[in-house]
Order: sequence, then C-alpha cells, then structure tokens
Amino acid sequence: MSKKYKVLVVDDSAAMRMLIKASLQGSEFDVVAEAKDGQEAVQSFKANAPDLMLLDIVMPGMSGVEALKQIMAFNKNAVVVMASSMGTEDAVQDALKAGAKNFLQKPIEQEALLKILRNTANTFIRK
Ligand SMILES: [Mg+2]
Repeated sequence: MSKKYKVLVVDDSAAMRMLIKASLQGSEFDVVAEAKDGQEAVQSFKANAPDLMLLDIVMPGMSGVEALKQIMAFNKNAVVVMASSMGTEDAVQDALKAGAKNFLQKPIEQEALLKILRNTANTFIRK
C-alpha cells in the first residue's frame, strides 16, 4: 500500500462521525477532517482538499445534495460518496446525477463502508 487516502467525513450526528472514524481506523482511509452540515462540508472541502468525501444527505441547514453541487462546481474531480437513509432515494438519484460517485446505505456497517470506499477509491482515485 502506498500513501493513505485523505477522507472528509460529513454527518450532522457526532456519534455517526465517531462510528465512521472508528470503522476506518487502521485502514488506508485517514479521516483528516469532519463537518456537521453542508456549509461546513463545502468550507472543509476547500480547506482540506480530501481525496474522498463521505457526505450525509439529511442534515439541518444546507443538505448533502446542495453541498455536493457546490463542491462539484468547485472541483469537478471531487470524489464523493453519499450516505443515504430511508426515504432519501430521490436525493440519492439527484446526487448521482450531480456527480456523486457512489452511495452507502445507513445504518453504516464497517464491512460495507470499507468495501464501498475501496471500490470508489480504486475506480476514481489515481495514486
Ligand atoms: Mg443526518
């Protein structure tokens, strides 16, 4: 394995962010930044230039899909995986159309998280 992937984790739930970080500990995915809403997500993306971003859809304030659109306008090569919950199927479709590379169904399980991030990284990130 060469260098680690820099990951930005966005979720309005602090417990969810902790769970994701714990799930990625020791893997090739290094959580370098976190954000709790869409606005912070856009700012953090610009500040941290992550290789990959895990982006919650349902958040107070700016939604994940709106944040995605701003991020894709800023960097069309952004690699973003959406985290979707029940009832966000339409938002997932919007996100994929807007340039999200993949999505992960909540509740997040470690195995599925790693599998999807690895597939996405292998397909879209040149190391
Ligand atoms: Mg949420």
